[in-house]
Amino acid sequence: MTYMVQINPATGEKVAEIKEKSQTEVLAAMTRARAAFPAWSQTPLDRRLAFLRRLRELLVDQIDEVAATIAQATGKVQVEAVMTEIFPTADIIHYYEKRASDFLAPKRVKTPFVFWGNHSYVEYKPMGVVAVISPWNYPLYLSIVPILSALVAGNCVLFKPSEVTPLVGVLIEKLFADAGFPADVVQVLHGGRETGQAVVSAKPDKIFFTGSVATGKKIMAAAAEHLIPVELELGGKDPMIVFADADLDRAVRGALWGAFTNAGQVCMSVERVYVEAPVYDEFVRKVVAATQELRQGVEFGSMTYPLQMQLVQAHIQDAVEKGARVECGGHALQEGTLYFAPTVLTGVNSSMRLMQEETFGPLLPILPFATEEQAVKQANDSEYGLNASVWSQDLVKAKRVATQLISGNVCINDVITNVANPHLPFGGVKHSGIGRYHGPEGLHTFCHQTSIMVNKGTKPREINWYPYTPELQDAFHTLTRLLFGKKRSVPFPALKNLFKQMLRTYRKQNGQPWQGEQKNLPM
Ligand code: NAD
Repeated sequence: MTYMVQINPATGEKVAEIKEKSQTEVLAAMTRARAAFPAWSQTPLDRRLAFLRRLRELLVDQIDEVAATIAQATGKVQVEAVMTEIFPTADIIHYYEKRASDFLAPKRVKTPFVFWGNHSYVEYKPMGVVAVISPWNYPLYLSIVPILSALVAGNCVLFKPSEVTPLVGVLIEKLFADAGFPADVVQVLHGGRETGQAVVSAKPDKIFFTGSVATGKKIMAAAAEHLIPVELELGGKDPMIVFADADLDRAVRGALWGAFTNAGQVCMSVERVYVEAPVYDEFVRKVVAATQELRQGVEFGSMTYPLQMQLVQAHIQDAVEKGARVECGGHALQEGTLYFAPTVLTGVNSSMRLMQEETFGPLLPILPFATEEQAVKQANDSEYGLNASVWSQDLVKAKRVATQLISGNVCINDVITNVANPHLPFGGVKHSGIGRYHGPEGLHTFCHQTSIMVNKGTKPREINWYPYTPELQDAFHTLTRLLFGKKRSVPFPALKNLFKQMLRTYRKQNGQPWQGEQKNLPM
């Protein structure tokens, strides 16, 4: 039996021990989930949503206990646990309570006139058993949101929480149990990488993964063996572009929050700041002064994962060796804990690891740019494309720049918060991921779509069916030219004939009397 130990990274204290699930237990969970699927998928949507409502109410009723548990497991300050985990989770539940029935209803679509008399629609059906594999940085929000989206769409879920924050996995298991979800509809499989691998090899019908690029690639490769669809929400190296006409004080405060909230362990952290040359010195001065005022344990919490803190230190060392200057911070704050001083760096360039790789820690490298074109080029010079921000009081310019950024998401005059708008689809481009959730896409991504075209079936046959005749060939030649060719390519007499031909062909094929010569088709 293997146990995971939960350490509170802000104090170094051992908080709990949680037993890992074995591969046999994972397979047994999959068998139970498959057995639970028919009843859950056929449960009317409003009843499924009632369980979600209970979950939301529980979260809110127990807001202090939930925030305290998250803080214990991650080291984040409690206000961030409420503001960036509990609040957006409750908000998206509320959003789907109101809109899921619309998003999941069959959608009528148009039917071209060549299929005259038919009608068409799309149905959204659950896929089966969805695996949700989560990271440690927002262990509540990044778990519950995909879990509940899959459940609303009618799927059962096998959930593998992060081994770095197992206490939150236990909390989520209890919340779903207390909300009264039927047995085996959501099962929590505590454990580390091996448990995650076991979940993937149990052949779920879809894998929703949030985590690093390296793991995402492994999961996608394993899923490919069985053609399991994957959604990957991966890392980022988000740029912030500050133009000289931005409200500079606002941009300074935005940069601080964007880089240091959750100790910089946000997939959409501000990881690179490009400032227009005329205001660069002033921006750096103000950022350094404001950073030094941030209070440990009040505005910024500890980091969560010891290995992540080592990576942050390695990025700083590499940058300094290549000529960067640490303007403030740059060191751990308290032995035995994972507090790390919010750090501002200048003199950075694209040869440094901290400009290329995801740091996922409280580092804010700042560099100047000369022109709009240069800013866009530098911002796009990354293998990531998760989020970005553009700062200017000229919204025409800001939107023009946003359009040129190769990024799944962009904020204008703000950072990160676009992810908390449940109406906006969320996901990355390039190495930042595949797929979108939130919004209607957040339910559709957990559905099989079935496209249906209905023919009333009252005619004996259709015009395109056998036998093929010269009239049919002529009719389709003319029709194709008419609909899709250059405007003048169908002379008027041909047009007149077309309708005659279509009508005659139709009548003939449907057994109506038609006097015409039957010729063979040219071979
Ligand atoms: P990680 O990739 O190390 O682990 C994520 C999860 O995958 C964990 O539960 C882990 O146990 C599991 N896992 C590891 N190897 C596995 C395997 N071979 N098969 C199946 N499961 C496996 O990531 P992490 O360190 O927990 O999280 C940090 C990363 O997540 C950062 O790169 C961050 O940018 C990214 N992230 C992305 C988003 C987003 O929405 N795009 C959000 C948060 C975090």
